[in-house]
Amino acid sequence: MTMDRRTLLKGAAAAGAGAAVSAATTAEASSVRPTAPPDAVGMLYDATLCIGCQACVTACKTANNMPGNLYDPPKDLDGQTKNIIKLYEEDGEKSYMKQQCMHCIDPGCVNACMIGAFKKREYGIVTWDKDRCIGCRYCQVACPYNIPKFQWDTPVPEIVKCELCNHMLARGEEPGCVQACPKEAVIFGTYEELLADARQRVADHPERYYPAGAPQIFGDTEGGGTQVLYLAGVDFEKLGLPVLGDDGVGVQMRAIQHGIYRGFIAPVALYGILGAVLWRNRRAAAKEGSDE
Ligand code: SF4
Ligand code: SF4
Ligand code: SF4
Repeated sequence: MTMDRRTLLKGAAAAGAGAAVSAATTAEASSVRPTAPPDAVGMLYDATLCIGCQACVTACKTANNMPGNLYDPPKDLDGQTKNIIKLYEEDGEKSYMKQQCMHCIDPGCVNACMIGAFKKREYGIVTWDKDRCIGCRYCQVACPYNIPKFQWDTPVPEIVKCELCNHMLARGEEPGCVQACPKEAVIFGTYEELLADARQRVADHPERYYPAGAPQIFGDTEGGGTQVLYLAGVDFEKLGLPVLGDDGVGVQMRAIQHGIYRGFIAPVALYGILGAVLWRNRRAAAKEGSDE
């Protein structure tokens, strides 16, 4: 780890109290690519270090008061699971893959949520507010990573996704998954430091990461960038990540919204169009089959 995380967390908590929406959510629909807010934090997952022990999965459940145990780990994200580890093994290649919210710099979910239940807030963390949510599930359609899940089997269903353990950050603690990882395969830090760390790793070991010789840091630019970054030794598409351009997903959605509102088309039609556009981007999720 390249920094004193506790100092970071306490400093950020003091300095950032009351600060709100990032540039990403306030930016007009335009060709300007949004940038991470100055106080952005996130995680770096290095799949080449992960041993698939699932300690992070259990720790995530504990941190979020969700049922589950190490002996029967969930196979996919669901209404009681915010973090999973998957194994990819094919054609002599093998890699683990951690999946949770990416805390997009320009999030599709935030832009899709008409009544502001999804927000990009302090430190660029994307949060969900149960008191505002009306259960329309447009956030699910808008997420290119297939992250938000709906609790179908509870009387008062909620949308479930990683919120970067912001309740623990507020106490000066690191996220549960980060604390539990015995290999530091997932680390927490400021976005800038994590990006610098990832760049240093690929510079030091270009042969270890995919593609060999000129490794990709997933999340550096994909979909407008994400505050959760990935390194791996295997093609990210094989690990379930979508193939996205560099434009922010939110930029695309705002452009569509502006055009449609000018024509006074009803929100129902609007979201039908948005859904069709965004579903086309979800190639990896479609390959695995929907769990909705
Ligand atoms: S990964 Fe999905 S749920 Fe998370 S911030 Fe991005 S669009 Fe929203
Ligand atoms: S940050 Fe918290 S909620 Fe998100 S995956 Fe890690 S433990 Fe789970
Ligand atoms: S705790 Fe660390 S090593 Fe174990 S599965 Fe999770 S990320 Fe991988």
